Amino acid sequence: MAWDFSTDPEFQEKLDWVAWFCKEEVEPLEYVFPYAVRSPDPKVKAYVRSLQQQVKDQGLWALFLDEELGGPGLGQLKLGLLNEIIGRYPSAPQMFGAAAPDTGNMEMLAAYGTDEQKKRWLEPLLNQEMFSAYSMTEPQGGSDPNLFTTHANRDGDEWVINGEKWFTSAGRVADILFVMCTNGMFVVPRETLGVEIMPEPRNHNHIKYTDVRVPLDHLLGPEDGAKVLAQRRLGGGRIHHAMRTIAQCTLAFDMMCERALSRESHGKIIGEHQMVQEKIADSYASIKMLRLFVLETAWKIDNTSTAEARTDIAAVKYTMAKVLREVSFNALHILGSLGTTDLTPLQAMYAGAPTMGIADGVDEVHKATVARRVLKEYRPHEGNWPTEYYPAKREAAWVKMQPKLDADPELRASAEAYQKYLARRR
Ligand SMILES: Cc1cc2nc3c(=O)[nH]c(=O)nc-3n(C[C@H](O)[C@H](O)[C@H](O)COP(=O)(O)OP(=O)(O)OC[C@H]3O[C@@H](n4cnc5c(N)ncnc54)[C@H](O)[C@@H]3O)c2cc1C
Repeated sequence: MAWDFSTDPEFQEKLDWVAWFCKEEVEPLEYVFPYAVRSPDPKVKAYVRSLQQQVKDQGLWALFLDEELGGPGLGQLKLGLLNEIIGRYPSAPQMFGAAAPDTGNMEMLAAYGTDEQKKRWLEPLLNQEMFSAYSMTEPQGGSDPNLFTTHANRDGDEWVINGEKWFTSAGRVADILFVMCTNGMFVVPRETLGVEIMPEPRNHNHIKYTDVRVPLDHLLGPEDGAKVLAQRRLGGGRIHHAMRTIAQCTLAFDMMCERALSRESHGKIIGEHQMVQEKIADSYASIKMLRLFVLETAWKIDNTSTAEARTDIAAVKYTMAKVLREVSFNALHILGSLGTTDLTPLQAMYAGAPTMGIADGVDEVHKATVARRVLKEYRPHEGNWPTEYYPAKREAAWVKMQPKLDADPELRASAEAYQKYLARRR
């Protein structure tokens, strides 16, 4: 019987190495050289490269890519376990060549790019010689691609793009922008004439594309294929994101428990007060449930496909936002005034929880997807009563047992006695 929650020892060794590397090398780097991966300082760059070489030597570089797309092809379950470790350290995904939004964009390039496009964009992105952004959301369109209007018109041997995009993360510092148009996905170098980045918001950019001209070979994948490419970006990515969220929840939980044992109030350590215990117990169970759900979904993708696991992928998406909200709130609360400051990760974690319910599709849209897909598996009942209506079930059971009761008068007598007894009690 195949039902096993253990990690095979060989892969566990990899996980142990990743945990060691993150704690010993990545975490100190974060405090001494924040945003080191994008640093223009040659000394810092060389230092980052030497750490990244260690990751490459372990065969863990760009680990999100399938084997046929040029990555290690770990599968979603193993990737999930790895992300559970690296998610604790904000800069770790970049140290493993696995940071959004580049990952999703690289996935699209690896799956749909021509050899020439891969050479031009995928290789430098993989080597972090280039960075990218993803321009999909529109100011008037939000979560609904049917409302998008950004369009590319063909003019001789060029495409001419016109439109407006909203919340393109890191667009300002990207070398290339993946622009979702109503008639296809286009790769636009940021410095192309007509690309105008609005002063605000600073980090997630509002970008106007006015008569932006790119050569024909800047269309990625088929014409009119933008929605399919967009789906490709999101499937597995959500599972990795969910495991990184679990890493954040676990960090908050660890802080909560440490504090519960360290502070005293009204004659006891606070971990002995029942309302603190309740927060610890609820958070513990929520993290466990989410972790099992995410890993089972990853396993399902590995054993079927992203499409088959779509209901669970969507359910994971809004559940992780809910669990992060709950656990980071509990931890922040138990740390008291310190929790409300920016001297620990908790304030940012709690403030970031609502963001998680919006980025990558708002909760409502994912919930509607889940409900719609789940309801496809059900049928309305016939007549006025639900299938589990007791009187109807009782009647059907008598009909079903009739031949056995006919064959055995003593059994019939017992059944009739039961019937009378139960009728008296009702
Ligand atoms: C941190 C962050 C990073 C992001 N990065 C990128 C990026 O790199 N590239 C990019 O293109 N986009 C990015 N986005 C944008 C993201 O895709 C959108 O925020 C998201 O699709 C929602 O669009 P909106 O913000 O316009 O909200 P709206 O669509 O206006 O939704 C607002 C609210 O309306 C309600 N609502 C909306 N639709 C429905 C519905 N169908 N059913 C019920 N209620 C509904 C919900 O309550 C929702 O919260 C990012 C967003 C965030 C927060």
